[in-house]
Amino acid sequence: MDKPLILICNDDGIDARGIHALACALDGLGELVVVAPESEQSAVGHSITMRDPVRAHPVAFEVPSGPIAAFAVTGTPADCIKLGCNRMLDRFPDLVVSGINQGPNTAVNVLYSGTVSAASEACILGLPAIAVSNCSWSADADFEIAGSFARQIAEKVLSKGLPAGVLLNVNVPATEAGDVKGIEITRQANARWEEEFSPRKDPFDRTYYWLTGRFVNLDDSGDNDLAAIDRGYVSVTPLQLDLTAYDHLDTLRSWNWESSAD
Ligand code: MN
Repeated sequence: MDKPLILICNDDGIDARGIHALACALDGLGELVVVAPESEQSAVGHSITMRDPVRAHPVAFEVPSGPIAAFAVTGTPADCIKLGCNRMLDRFPDLVVSGINQGPNTAVNVLYSGTVSAASEACILGLPAIAVSNCSWSADADFEIAGSFARQIAEKVLSKGLPAGVLLNVNVPATEAGDVKGIEITRQANARWEEEFSPRKDPFDRTYYWLTGRFVNLDDSGDNDLAAIDRGYVSVTPLQLDLTAYDHLDTLRSWNWESSAD
């Protein structure tokens, strides 16, 4: 195969440390092109821009081997993948890698995450895709460890491929390099947010709300993404985009459905 073409995206914005660390980690693995949001798009999920124009402008982006093509986009991560594949690249990429996100994207958060949605959009386009998140929220978080795992996993996906409709969601624990115990293949944990909308007052004495909450793990099995990270492993979860509940199809078909509209 020719030098693989690798499209890089994220949701923290093109100036975030994580995307720079990712591009540096993938340097030499193929031709790298960055198409990423101009500003932070965390938790925008899979939203796309339909009623406003999307603009893109080239920006300087350096990796150790030299400058690479990079575009800042006034849209969401999903927009970046669509636009990148449609306009910025002269052929479909061989791999899409999204990240490295600041903060984990485990359990149900894969649905809220812009990082994962960039990879999901690539998956919809039929491309192998990986989302990578670093579990640390710290402003001086180390992205090199996550970068080295991202490279290792990207190499594996380039050589082995992924089935259609499947992407990999990778979460790297917030520990020192020597403390990461290895890679575990995991399920998405059963966990959810217990949310609270904290009421505040604006300067005009009108009430507004701010979303707060705490993340609650309801999963006591050992093979889920949260459990693996807690044990110090990099969690790799294969995600699929077909959300059909196949186990429920027969039950639903067995209900007494009327054959006419009245
Ligand atoms: Mn983010």
